[in-house]
Amino acid sequence: MKGFEYLEEELQEMRDEGVFRSLVPLQSDQGAKVVIDGKEVIQLSSNNYLGLTTHPRMKLEAVRAVDQFGAGTGSVRTIAGTFSMHEQFEKKLAEFKHTEATLVLQSGFTANQAILSSILTKEDVVISDELNHASIIDGIRLTKAARKIYKHVDMKSLETALKETQDYRKRLVVTDGVFSMDGNIAPLPEIVELAEKYDALIMVDDAHASGVLGRNGRGTVDHFDLNGRVHIQVGTLSKAIGVLGGYIASTQAVRDYLIHKGRPFLFSTSHPPAVTAACSEAIDILLEEPERIERLWDNTKYFKAGLEKLGFNTGHSDTPITPVVVGDGAKAHQLSDKLLQYGVFAQGIAFPTVQKGKARVRTIVTADHTKELLDEALVAFEKAGKELGIIS
Ligand SMILES: *Cc1c(COP(=O)(O)O)cnc(C)c1O
Repeated sequence: MKGFEYLEEELQEMRDEGVFRSLVPLQSDQGAKVVIDGKEVIQLSSNNYLGLTTHPRMKLEAVRAVDQFGAGTGSVRTIAGTFSMHEQFEKKLAEFKHTEATLVLQSGFTANQAILSSILTKEDVVISDELNHASIIDGIRLTKAARKIYKHVDMKSLETALKETQDYRKRLVVTDGVFSMDGNIAPLPEIVELAEKYDALIMVDDAHASGVLGRNGRGTVDHFDLNGRVHIQVGTLSKAIGVLGGYIASTQAVRDYLIHKGRPFLFSTSHPPAVTAACSEAIDILLEEPERIERLWDNTKYFKAGLEKLGFNTGHSDTPITPVVVGDGAKAHQLSDKLLQYGVFAQGIAFPTVQKGKARVRTIVTADHTKELLDEALVAFEKAGKELGIIS
């Protein structure tokens, strides 16, 4: 079909630069090992931190829910698509997060769109870390509020932004709890102090902290003992929780408001029963199997130390997200390709997902990786890294 030559041209440029990528289909479930192209390889690119994607109890609850309630819900939440299990799960989640209420949306991405597009007006301003996730950036694009971007985790820059915005009605400071590309944790105690000093609201996107940080994986707010001092927590059910979905944990007023004004909530169909049932079971598992989180952190320390010993630049991560920074985009993809040859799946990530010159292979270990698997992965990294001249 004619008409898309302009797209083909741009795609060709990407091919010439070595940054055109194909999707990589898994032929197995999402575990510590996966099957790609008929070959079993070590998975180091998933967000399946706790190994919950395949937890037997969650699979069973999903199957039961399909049996009893069907494959889909047939409506958006606000018309006919709220099942009692949706509301029960939201109550359970609120209790877990120590907040008054929660509202679940289709994904973390849409949770950010819903909250950021709805609660601010042109009398308000949103103040955002420059490295916040794309879904926050896009959510901010949908608000009529003014925008201020502060330098990444730079509290001087945040304070300047707060000083310059004192005439607005409401100010909302937004940060990732854990930054998804570098794995560093936001300095939340300092952010909270500044926001309180300047009477601003605070929103934390804990997508990579849900299930990873805080008691039983409650997130960064709990990790820093800041319960009750962060106005809005966004979480995802798609990463450590192992299923799909996003949520806003905040006050009853915020929940009620989003039910009336949160556009993805109003105009997009609710989660199928299997999703909600599996997510609900996952919260029980977080409470009952905290050893998963311990294993995750054990593996994190082990693997990070191994990569550093080999001489890789692993940035300044404080979490299971460990980048192997190589700089050039094409090189990151070459490293990823070689790793796959040697039995390790670790995706290269380049511009525009990260800044130019900061391309990397991003690794994430899970609770389900054994030390033997991690050792095997380190051998592959050593071989590939030496062959490409990244380490000596
Ligand atoms: C992954 C991620 C999201 C999106 O979550 P999904 O549930 O996958 O849509 C939002 N914010 C941050 C910081 C993320 O890392």
